[in-house]
Amino acid sequence: MAPTTLESAFDKVSLSTAIVVPSTPALTVSYQRLAADVKAFQLRLAKAGVSAQSAVSIALPNTYEFIVSFIAASWQRAIAAPLNPAYKQSEFEFYIDDLSSAIALVPQGAYAQGTAAVRAARKYRAAIAECYYNGKEVVLEVKETGKLGGKGNAPVEAAQPDDVALVLHTSGTTGRPKAVPLTHRNLLRTMKNIQTTYQLTAKDRTMLVMPLFHVHGLLAGFLAPLASGGSVVVPTKFSASEFWKDFIEHKANWYTAVPTIHQILLKSPLPKPIPQIRFIRSCSSPLSPKVFHELEKALNAPVLEAYAMTEAAHQMTSNPLPPGKRMPGSVGIGQGVEVKILDQEGKEVPQGKEAEICIRGENVTKGYLNNPSANASSFTKEGFFRTGDQGKMDADGYVIITGRIKELINKGGEKISPIELDNVLAQHPAVAEAVSFALEDEIYGQDVGVAIVLKDGLASNAAELKSWMAERVAKFKLPKKIFFTDIMPKTATGKVQRRLVAEAMLKKES
Ligand code: ATP
Ligand code: MG
Repeated sequence: MAPTTLESAFDKVSLSTAIVVPSTPALTVSYQRLAADVKAFQLRLAKAGVSAQSAVSIALPNTYEFIVSFIAASWQRAIAAPLNPAYKQSEFEFYIDDLSSAIALVPQGAYAQGTAAVRAARKYRAAIAECYYNGKEVVLEVKETGKLGGKGNAPVEAAQPDDVALVLHTSGTTGRPKAVPLTHRNLLRTMKNIQTTYQLTAKDRTMLVMPLFHVHGLLAGFLAPLASGGSVVVPTKFSASEFWKDFIEHKANWYTAVPTIHQILLKSPLPKPIPQIRFIRSCSSPLSPKVFHELEKALNAPVLEAYAMTEAAHQMTSNPLPPGKRMPGSVGIGQGVEVKILDQEGKEVPQGKEAEICIRGENVTKGYLNNPSANASSFTKEGFFRTGDQGKMDADGYVIITGRIKELINKGGEKISPIELDNVLAQHPAVAEAVSFALEDEIYGQDVGVAIVLKDGLASNAAELKSWMAERVAKFKLPKKIFFTDIMPKTATGKVQRRLVAEAMLKKES
């Protein structure tokens, strides 16, 4: 029978390697040992009072203890709620309060240091426990029992497929973060979809460079590879200089990352050749065709761009492995997920026309927590989830994202895709980064603003960039104003927040 919960998905008691932590010396953990460590940690959670559907906030970096505590929480029928350990206190407070967390897991020493996570957990009476690997086992040291009171007993009954296993928040690019509950069924479907898309097997080993507190790292970089019987190399921090060293030394054969990381890797010295690379996956932000080609050339391996979101437990579409067709600038085809381009009324638009990308599948959340109004507007009558992304589909089902519904620049009724302008400007030889956004305009309502980071040592100016753009895009799309900046504001996930970029540029000017 196909597994239906995270517990059964990891039911492979084998001596083959599951996890490699590239410390000195490297920590290499077999599936058998991982299962034993998880079981022991589950008992510790149970003893601390964590029971079915308790929210366990995991404020740990990418470490072995993160991996063990995450799986153990799900085996204990609890809800894992990974949090970025770099959050500030007000951010921790928001997330811990939003989920009424029962316990917060923090790194060793965090309690004595009174870190932001510890202070926030205390404020909402969550239990606080340090969690670390002592060279033999993963320890759970309860420092404050909070509302759990510290009394627990035996593990609960096994988790059920429709139990919530994970809650993550959307990154808040388009507003306040919303809590997205994902069930075992949702997660297992994504794991299966990813496994199928990339034909993952026990022979594959991935380098995990994305944070485990977002769906990208958690599902594509960790759960899907493990569910395929493969293994994962887990450095605690991404470092361009260590990346290829670890990749080669620990015999990884693929990785998944955001375009920013691919670009950083392209800039650092690439060892050549690395014949074991089977493919490279890019996801979470648009990969420009330029970087796509540079990466394929530099690494001599197919680059597969995928499209994902928290509400879909990560992946929705991806470009396929060869001999399937890869299409630069496209996020590929639905992978175990139905994709339709629908208008505001929920009607499918003619092929090639732009409208909202909508999806349906077993991976998709049933709805946001405590947010009936968002839930009412997020699903169509037929049960398609409205992604909020604008896009179109070609005759072969390849999806091209053209922008976010709320971010389209609406110039007197003319909708302008900011991504299109970004891509055009990114091709200019002096431009390192370009982000377009809506500027308020008395006549048009909105007009185009652009923030530009120039490449080191290269010069350009607004007039030159405008005339360069004029050769490539329609006149109505030309920016009203171009701002030059040294750094582009980004979210923790490396995403551009157009609204924040706009605010920052206008502030700098005034
Ligand atoms: P919020 O929903 O709070 O505004 P968010 O949508 O940025 O935040 P995530 O769930 O992390 O939070 O990101 C999903 C979004 O990321 C998608 O809806 C899409 O806009 C963008 N995205 C993902 N993959 C790609 C890609 N390959 N190309 C372009 N955009 C992508
Ligand atoms: Mg979103």
